[in-house]
Amino acid sequence: MNKLTAKHKKNEEYSILITDIGTNGEGIGHIEDGYTLFVRGAIIGDTVLTRIIKPAKNYGIGKLMRIISPSPYRIETACPISNRCGGCQISSLSYEKQLELKENKVRELLIRLGGFDADYIDSVFNPIEGYDGDPFRYRNKAQYPVGTDRDGNPIIGFYSVHSHRIVPCDDCLIGSDADASIKSCILSYIIKNHISCYDESANTGLIRHILIRTAYATGEVMVCLVINGKSLPEKDELVNQLLAIDFEGKWKITSICTSSNTTDTNVIMGNSYDIIFGNGYITDKIGEISFQISPLSFFQVNPAQTEKLYSLALKYAALNGNETVWDLYCGIGTISLFLAQKAQYVKGVEIIPQAIDNAITNARINGITNVDFYVGKAEEVLPEYYSNANAGDKALVPDVIVVDPPRKGCDTTCLDTMLKMTPSRIVYISCDPATLSRDLKYLCVDGAYQLSAVTPVDMFPHSSHVETAVLLNRQIK
Ligand code: SAH
Repeated sequence: MNKLTAKHKKNEEYSILITDIGTNGEGIGHIEDGYTLFVRGAIIGDTVLTRIIKPAKNYGIGKLMRIISPSPYRIETACPISNRCGGCQISSLSYEKQLELKENKVRELLIRLGGFDADYIDSVFNPIEGYDGDPFRYRNKAQYPVGTDRDGNPIIGFYSVHSHRIVPCDDCLIGSDADASIKSCILSYIIKNHISCYDESANTGLIRHILIRTAYATGEVMVCLVINGKSLPEKDELVNQLLAIDFEGKWKITSICTSSNTTDTNVIMGNSYDIIFGNGYITDKIGEISFQISPLSFFQVNPAQTEKLYSLALKYAALNGNETVWDLYCGIGTISLFLAQKAQYVKGVEIIPQAIDNAITNARINGITNVDFYVGKAEEVLPEYYSNANAGDKALVPDVIVVDPPRKGCDTTCLDTMLKMTPSRIVYISCDPATLSRDLKYLCVDGAYQLSAVTPVDMFPHSSHVETAVLLNRQIK
């Protein structure tokens, strides 16, 4: 029998059943006295032997020592480095169970943090939109760190969990199948030309990261080498070798760049980039809209699921062509342009000026003229517009406001202004169900809106993240 103490100590071992999953995909279980342990590598349904490595007051971190009895949902992952790479936290769980878990997570947070009644949530909740087919090869972007192994040989891979140690990776199964041959081509170039790889501890060595972006709709591929210096030696040779890769007609490298980053930080990309081949961007499509994507642009990483997510936004916006819509946190205008096809006018707001430059270009290449973009914080642009706008301005009382904020959710000033603008509908796209629930509480439980539909979307199979699309309707009080 394990000794039960109020406060547990380092190196104590327990066998526990894993009953839940944490934000970063860790298994969660409880010792008999209720003390919570987070165990990386353990999944729901496993009974594991765990050793406490970090005891804190209310919970502890346990190391997975042994799986005593495996979960019925456990599957053999196809990835050989899944237990070392920090990318896919729940890939040992069957995909069906992953979806169920994500759905439950959204539902529970809406009840617990959103303050909604469980029966009410059930009445507006739609099943999660999972990935069709095999949930692999979905990502259109990868950033591979480059370094050296213990013997000084160059390696390209991923950082292992909670560290900057590089786990070599030849072919990431959630990434594009163009990447493996590109990485091996760059590795040969590095070895042949004795080019140094980055050493983080000393901030020395030239090649830091390789960014590969693929456009699934057009087959265009971009390669960008992030370098700790100004230029790349023998770059013509590299360009020729990359262009000689035989992708059997599936992919075509149309853009090769370098981005100089000499800072001693965790930021991957430099502030700018130099084109060494092509025009510095690739073009991808979501639905009928084309997007130019440069090395520094934000673009959703799972195009198949993005189309489902944006279609939900469009469905929830319920446009008939006469509406004015605000799209807050608009990035490069992806949702704005999607909505502009069906609205009278769309106004996009985004904090990053370069993203707005991209948004304007994207509107132009698609011949879309009924959009305006504003650079600034949503919580500043919206109130300022609201206080300066002229009476009679339709955008003062928009029909629909769409928000797609980063994980921290919306600022209360932004939510207050949305409430004052009284749109008929608010469409909330969220990548964090906890902050989504908090903001919905503000808008619905305490505010004037009614939660009318919730649909989770699985943008990131095998990771613990979940995206959610929500529709709110104005309540006339
Ligand atoms: N809707 C876009 C981008 C969503 S990501 C798409 O689907 O592609 C969230 C965006 O919000 C990022 O582009 C980020 O730069 C932007 N952002 C972050 N904080 C912001 C703020 N306070 N005001 C406006 N935009 C913000």
